[in-house]
Amino acid sequence: MLEKVVIANRGEIALRILRACKELGIRTVAVYSSADRDLKHVKLADEAVCIGPPASSESYLNMPRIIAAAEVTDAVAIHPGYGFLSENADFAERVERSGFIFIGPRPETIRLMGDKVSAKEAMKAAGVPTVPGSDGALGDNDEENLRMARKIGYPVIIKAAGGGGGRGMKVVHSEATLLSAISLTRSEAKTAFGNDTVYMEKFLEHPRHVEFQVLADEHGNAIHLGTRDCSMQRRHQKVIEEAPAPGIPQKLLDEMGERCAKACRDIGYRGAGTFEFLYENGEFYFIEMNTRVQVEHPVTEMITGVDIVREQLRIAAGEKLAYRQEDIKFEGHAFECRINAEDARTFRPSPGLIKAWHAPGGPGVRVDSHIYSGYTVPPYYDSLIAKILTHGPTREIALMRMRTALTEVVVEGIETNTALHMDLFNDSEFVAGGTDIHYLQKKLGL
Ligand code: ADP
Repeated sequence: MLEKVVIANRGEIALRILRACKELGIRTVAVYSSADRDLKHVKLADEAVCIGPPASSESYLNMPRIIAAAEVTDAVAIHPGYGFLSENADFAERVERSGFIFIGPRPETIRLMGDKVSAKEAMKAAGVPTVPGSDGALGDNDEENLRMARKIGYPVIIKAAGGGGGRGMKVVHSEATLLSAISLTRSEAKTAFGNDTVYMEKFLEHPRHVEFQVLADEHGNAIHLGTRDCSMQRRHQKVIEEAPAPGIPQKLLDEMGERCAKACRDIGYRGAGTFEFLYENGEFYFIEMNTRVQVEHPVTEMITGVDIVREQLRIAAGEKLAYRQEDIKFEGHAFECRINAEDARTFRPSPGLIKAWHAPGGPGVRVDSHIYSGYTVPPYYDSLIAKILTHGPTREIALMRMRTALTEVVVEGIETNTALHMDLFNDSEFVAGGTDIHYLQKKLGL
């Protein structure tokens, strides 16, 4: 097993990684910014190294500092968590060149999947269904682009190959604005991502966001852990997730899951990953792959009993997957609410001192959180302060458990979005299951 791991992240995911390391007897190094001295995992880690001032660009995105921290502590591997440097192929490469193990896929894989045009091509070649659109990047020939959009059928969406975080996309409803939308997306993409490659897709009007979790080792083994439905979103940010995605025929889920696992074998994928799809009218359309652990991974852990972070660490140590596909049994249903330090109505961030915190409990309840009474939420980072999860033998019981859990939450001193979650868990359409990705924005009147 790995002897010592640097946790190159903060907040709840850093604590989650620390816990998995402890279970495996791996020593831990927390690297933190000067705003994060009081983080729970910093206090619990075997060693802690301050890597810079509060700004992420000088701390959690500071590659030389993180690698230096691994050097001075004699660590063997670096876990990047999610966000920050987790999908940065250059970082993965520098980590490996410095003699450490990057806990994630090979740098080439991250690069392949980080470019949406090459990712889509690779998936198509592996037999994964993609959104109909331009095969590859758009050229400069206006006539050809107009013809292509006509063939795909309006509305279409113009997307940047290097885009991310819901940026670098434009929906086009008619021919009149197509060419201007292409050139605008190009120039915005050039400025934002340093890459002006754009492509065209059919714009799906009422899709759901359904994703598949996969695990693959270095020995050619790959399995899937089923689906998560993450359609409840605001500004492309997921708010609630559930597993499995409700109301989709089991046969289709099994078939798609197997295709994702096969795609992993085809591209030589290593580690944990997620295939994101839009799902509309009974069809799946691949949009992108995330080459890291995701915020919502615990809903999958709850219905499968597989510890995804533990598997990441084992795979990075060169071990074989602990499971074959037939070992994976799906049990019951799970939900996750992302509790953010923000106003439930205006969504304005609400950092500051937490005067009191009480987490819910009881059967089928899991809380992943780094906060405690007396902790101050800094203003510099993501506003996620807790993930509240419930599991039950049926979707109804998991829903009921979440309603109960939410009534138990106490956070004093700052605002949170708990009331929004409460509303949604009493919303008849969400309770029925299968709402699309626009549902929350519409409900909020946006
Ligand atoms: P990002 O990397 O920025 O998250 P994605 O390709 O995953 O980019 O797309 C983000 C979101 O944009 C999707 O979850 C969906 O809401 C919307 N979207 C992207 N492509 C399409 C499409 N072809 N039709 C409809 N919506 C889309």
